[in-house]
Amino acid sequence: MKNALEYIESLRSLKPIIYCNGQKIESVVEHPMTRPHVNSAAMTYAMAFGPDAELATATSHLTGKKVNRFTHIHQGTNDLVNKVKLLRKISQKTGTCFQRCVGMDALNATFIVTHKIDQECGTEYHNRFIEYMKYVQENDLMIAGSMTDVKGDRSLKPGEQDDPDMYVHIVSKNEEGIIVRGAKAHQTGMANSHEMLILPTTNLGPEDKDYAVAAAIPVDAPGVVHIFGRQTNDQRRLQGDIDTGNAKFAIVGGETLTILNDVFVPWNKVFMCGEHQYAQEYVEKFAAYHRQNYGGCKVGLSDVIIGASQAMAEYNGVPKANHIKDKIIEMINLAETMYCCSIACSAEGKPTEAGSYYVDTLLANTVKLNCTKNMYEISRLAHDIAGGLIATLPYEIDYKSPVTGPYIEKYLKGKADVPTQDRIRMARLVENMTGGTALAESMHGAGSPQAMRIMLYREANLKEKVKFAKNLAGIKPQVAQEQAAATKEDK
Ligand SMILES: Cc1cc2nc3c(=O)[nH]c(=O)nc-3n(C[C@H](O)[C@H](O)[C@H](O)COP(=O)(O)OP(=O)(O)OC[C@H]3O[C@@H](n4cnc5c(N)ncnc54)[C@H](O)[C@@H]3O)c2cc1C
Repeated sequence: MKNALEYIESLRSLKPIIYCNGQKIESVVEHPMTRPHVNSAAMTYAMAFGPDAELATATSHLTGKKVNRFTHIHQGTNDLVNKVKLLRKISQKTGTCFQRCVGMDALNATFIVTHKIDQECGTEYHNRFIEYMKYVQENDLMIAGSMTDVKGDRSLKPGEQDDPDMYVHIVSKNEEGIIVRGAKAHQTGMANSHEMLILPTTNLGPEDKDYAVAAAIPVDAPGVVHIFGRQTNDQRRLQGDIDTGNAKFAIVGGETLTILNDVFVPWNKVFMCGEHQYAQEYVEKFAAYHRQNYGGCKVGLSDVIIGASQAMAEYNGVPKANHIKDKIIEMINLAETMYCCSIACSAEGKPTEAGSYYVDTLLANTVKLNCTKNMYEISRLAHDIAGGLIATLPYEIDYKSPVTGPYIEKYLKGKADVPTQDRIRMARLVENMTGGTALAESMHGAGSPQAMRIMLYREANLKEKVKFAKNLAGIKPQVAQEQAAATKEDK
């Protein structure tokens, strides 16, 4: 396993092409826009050597060696539960996305789907993928999970788009491998990953089989271009350490728009090539694993937001006010509800035919749907408690100026025994964690809410619920009628 420093050093040998704000980023380790994201991801490596090492590591079922949990294929419900607990702990330390879970979920989904494709199509993807997994574990790689295509007109399937490159597709194949073209959007942690694992973003018909592609690609492979995303207030990190609110770790995952300009992938890194009928299952497996995470990482973030809100109440001298206590209690309730869902979908996980463990789909989707609302409500309550300061604080440079600084020091003081700067710093942290980019991630990361609603409707077994109700209402089963209805539905 790599420790945090070794991970950071390993990034220096990669040469990805990354554009940001009109310039090329020469080193993600040194550049002020990417370094905080490197620091966050580094925490996933540091944890494997810290007091929570037991949680942060696992034994590889492929090699018997100890590996970082982010490169592990889940072997039981305890692995699934430990994943959630680990994510919560890392979030408590970074206060932001540490990016590496997306790749872990893509790896676990690929493990299941390649097995199924091989069983039914006689292909050799699974063994190929196992070799790849060993390479990932051996080198403790950070993998970007690359599902989301840019998608163009959302009402059209890939092959119906005006521009065929709106979804990543296979352009050609030869004896050595395949060439892919297209772009992946919102790519968390891509700039500071070692490789990306691309997979389809939607269900596909036979006419779209060239879009059914899964493959691992180094982030600096020829033809790969990344354009770094702009985040709320990100330029503040160039101007000091107070105004960012979380100077060391920044906000969300440093997402990129990643363009694949006719990128060559050798066969040993291709895990799906045209098997369109498995695209939907691939997406669902990846999405369920990824939605499981939100009651871990977002609850860790909520822990920090709740702590910051409590601190602000103390700095303002009102921690004992009844409505403040009520609001803090409500925030705890909202956070722990998300945690319960994640623990539940993990504890209710089941073995797969590939031998790994998979979360309960219904419950995993419930986690994320809750998160799209609860994080907004938690943030709303944090804003209420923190006060208007989070919206009107002066610039850090004015706080540090000999002309204006003394005024700010005097007039922005809260409780007498609390330094003004502590109050300012805490307000900035609340602002950072509860605004723009951070909240949008809770909404759309791992899929927009409607994607979860569709899964809830599909997975909830409504027929069985109707039966329960009819039984209690004393309505006798009308066998003939129900059979006719079922036949009609099947058609
Ligand atoms: C911070 C962040 C990090 C992310 N990280 C990753 C990552 O690491 N890897 C990755 O692969 N993806 C990542 N994503 C992408 C995420 O999965 C997508 O944002 C999500 O699936 C929604 O897709 P979209 O953003 O293109 O939204 P859109 O598809 O534009 O959705 C906008 C709205 O339109 C609706 N809509 C879309 N299509 C249809 C349709 N056909 N019919 C009806 N309604 C429709 C949606 O429900 C939604 O309400 C990330 C996203 C964010 C915000």
